[in-house]
Order: sequence, then structure tokens, then C-alpha cells
Amino acid sequence: MTRAFRSRKVRTPLAIVLAALATAPAWTLGNGEHTVRYLMGTWCDLVIFDPPPDPGIAESAFREIARLEDVLSSWDPQSEVSQLNARSGQGPQAVSEDLAAVTAESAAMCATTKGAFDPTVGPLLRAWGFYSDTPAPPTPESGRSTASRVGCDQVHVQRDSRSISLAEGAELDFGGIGKGYAVDRAIAILKAHGVTRAKLDFGSSSLAFLGKLDGGWPVVIVDPLDRAKPLLSLRVQEGSVSTSSQQERYFDSDGHRYGHIFDPRLGRPVESRLLSVTVITPQGSTADALSTGLFVLGATEGKRVIAHIPGASAVFVEQGPNGPLISTAGKLAGLTRLSH
Ligand code: ADP
Ligand code: MG
Repeated sequence: MTRAFRSRKVRTPLAIVLAALATAPAWTLGNGEHTVRYLMGTWCDLVIFDPPPDPGIAESAFREIARLEDVLSSWDPQSEVSQLNARSGQGPQAVSEDLAAVTAESAAMCATTKGAFDPTVGPLLRAWGFYSDTPAPPTPESGRSTASRVGCDQVHVQRDSRSISLAEGAELDFGGIGKGYAVDRAIAILKAHGVTRAKLDFGSSSLAFLGKLDGGWPVVIVDPLDRAKPLLSLRVQEGSVSTSSQQERYFDSDGHRYGHIFDPRLGRPVESRLLSVTVITPQGSTADALSTGLFVLGATEGKRVIAHIPGASAVFVEQGPNGPLISTAGKLAGLTRLSH
């Protein structure tokens, strides 16, 4: 487990390959410079295509992500957000520009998704043991006492004074938006260094493209139940792609499978036929928050939300009687069904 964002189950052969790559300085793939680093509990894979970068540029992007991990991680008791959580119920607290920005955007996403994306899910994750290696359903009493500490109204952010107040016992968790925010900041660093074309791939969950590629950047959506199976491909213009699924982290108990995405309105992990939601938007933090929120809302309600967000599109993969069922919202280019 990392000191910060929860580590993922990485299948052994891939883990060995990636571990080997992570120790190599950088190497050339096609005409791009490829660098890999383990950050925020997952592998972050950066390819800089144009112009040929100085060796330090990838390092600057990774340093920025590592810096944000120290701000946003709920796993690290020393992180800025953990220290803010420890001061819940004590009125407005001064915070960094990043913490204020992520919290303000999270609050806006909470409103956009009618509370489905909710950065105050921390007490639920804690009660269900998702901050430990031994998750388990809580007792009914602890489940009930937790529910009252969750909701968009538990957090108030004042952007002008850069301060945040949390209701007593409330706890912010940015697992659903932090990687997207970090991707945006890393892309901004690359741009500032003169990079015009790059791809940043944050595990399987957040992907960002800087600059355009003729015909669009190829993106493949895999079967969430069997990642070796590609389901469909599409082409993305400059922007971000984020995927959420319960398969990322889960535990089994009493014949139920409980995943790490919670329905804040019910106070328990989402259980539905939905297998994954992929969201494409210009901004990484928006894609990340929406993929989590739309996973909670489900395909029907999720499509209504997407319709109101300019430039956003989504792909929903649901469990069907004969394999995965795919549906989409918004404008998607080059959509090609690959299997099933
Ligand atoms: P990934 O970690 O694979 O990027 P997501 O972006 O979907 O996956 O985020 C899931 C994480 O978001 C959970 O591990 C938890 O930290 C947090 N979370 C769970 N449920 C919610 C929710 N309803 N709203 C906001 N964040 C959530
Ligand atoms: Mg997310």
C-alpha cells in the first residue's frame, strides 16, 4: 500500500514489467518520450511527443502530481486534507489554493449531480473499512451515525478568503476527483514548458491528451469484468477521459460484492447493473468527478446530466443477459464496437 491514494491490485506480470520500466530513466516509443512513475496509488504513464523534451520536463510534471498527493490524500494523516478533516467543527480554516480549488469544484459537482458525487463520503469509506486492508460492512448503528455526517451541506468553501469549514465529524475524500485535478495541473506544467503534444495515462482511471492528433487520439474501453477484452474504441480530441467502476476496489461479504463507490444518499456502496462509466470532457477534474457521480446515478439519470454539460460525453457499460451492454451520451467520434 502506498502512503497515500490506495494502491490497486496490479496483476503480477504487468507489475513486474512496470516496476522494471519505473526504474529506467526514460525511453523512446515511436516518436514519443515515455516515462512511468508510481503516484497516487497507481502507475502514471507520460508520453511527450512534441517537441522532443528536455529530460527534466517529465520530472517537473511528476513532481507536481507528488505535491498534490501531499495535499489531497486521505491515506496520509499528514496530508493537508487529513489535517483539515481533523479540525472539523472548528469553523473556517485557512487552506492552500489547491485545496480551496478542489473543494470548490467538488462542491459544484455535488450540485450538478444532485449529491451523487459528494466529497464528504469520507466517514462512509472509513465506516466500511475502505481506509484499511480489511474492509467490512459496518454495524447498523455505526452506519446510521455515519449517514448524518455526509452531504454537500457539510462543507463550505470561501474562495476569496481561501478557507473551508467542515461540520463536526465531516471528512473530505478526494478519491473521486484528485487524479483528474492532478492530471490538469501536470498538463499545465507541460504546456508551460513548451510541450505541444503529450498523453498522460493515470492507471486505468484518468487519461489526458495535450494537443491534437490527426483523426483524434485513440481510446479503447475494455470489459470491466475482463480487462483483456476490448469492448469499443473511439477517438478523442484534446481533453480528458475518466473511467469509474466498482471493479477497481471491492470486497466480498455474505454473497455481496461491495465496491469503493458509495451512493451518498443511501450511505452504502452502489450495487447496480452498471459495470463502468467513462466520461470525456475538456477538463480532467470534471471528467473524474462526473465518472464517479454518474456511476452512482446510473445510465438513465447520468445521460440527463451529461446533456447539460457543454462538450461532455459518456459511455455506460452495463451487465446484460448475454454480456456487456453499451450506451452513450453526447457526441463521440469514431465509435467502433470491438467485441461481444
Ligand atoms: P478511481 O479511484 O478508480 O479513479 P473514481 O474516480 O470513481 O475511481 O473514484 C472512486 C473513489 O472516490 C473512491 O475510492 C472514494 O475515495 C471516492 N468516492 C466514493 N464514492 C464517492 C461519491 N459518491 N462521490 C465522491 N467520491 C466518492
Ligand atoms: Mg472519479
